[in-house]
Amino acid sequence: MARPIDIVSLYPKDMNIYGDSGNVLTIERRLALYGYEPRVHAVNQRDPWPDHADVILGGGGQDTGQKKIIDDLYARADTLRALADDGTPMLMICGLYQLFGDYFETVDGARLEGISIIGAHTVGRDVRMIGNLVEHSDDFGDVIGYENHSGQTFLDAGVRPLGTVAHDGMGNNGEDHTEGARVHNVIGTYMHGSLLPKNPAISDFLIRAAVERRYGGFRPESAPAQGEELARIDRVAGRAREAARL
Ligand code: GLN
Repeated sequence: MARPIDIVSLYPKDMNIYGDSGNVLTIERRLALYGYEPRVHAVNQRDPWPDHADVILGGGGQDTGQKKIIDDLYARADTLRALADDGTPMLMICGLYQLFGDYFETVDGARLEGISIIGAHTVGRDVRMIGNLVEHSDDFGDVIGYENHSGQTFLDAGVRPLGTVAHDGMGNNGEDHTEGARVHNVIGTYMHGSLLPKNPAISDFLIRAAVERRYGGFRPESAPAQGEELARIDRVAGRAREAARL
């Protein structure tokens, strides 16, 4: 019997742009190829929280989407904080990355308090930061993606960025070359595009952390055909990464 792993897709209705849902598909597919049974739970506003949450994936959104979900996010803040402290792997992109910080001041002057899982704050400005992003991450090597945001994020002293912007892109704020953040097993990033199909190292980090936390050890059981499929997927991702580094 394949062992289940519960994936929470956070606010797919309102926080899901530039292909962010591809991240959920990637984790689901890779888990199945490793011989686990992925179960995806979409959690939108007022939806019940599932009994198990092994890995939590959240996407980006317009400022309006962020304003829509914010009260629901406050209602779940204690749950999310406890899970983060306990080592639950999470990937929060762009709009939800901003709201996992201390606050986001939008370009029209609204202030959205965040849930402070990541020590960072964000201030909107009227120039958008748009384009491909290539960064170097100590944990994951070269990481590629696509950014589109108006918010400039500044990390608190001592908060580790996910990576350093290489030759392309603006990153957290266009000023200090940092991109994203890493706190416990929580990753915040501006990389859409989708991130996970193109960066298997990050997918596998999230999967391994989820499985280890739930079952105490990562022991994939891939049939040969599944192993070949994983290798094929990783070759395609490798080609995308080569192309982005040119
Ligand atoms: N609305 C936020 C901003 O513009 C987030 C955008 C996004 O998630 N792509 O900064």
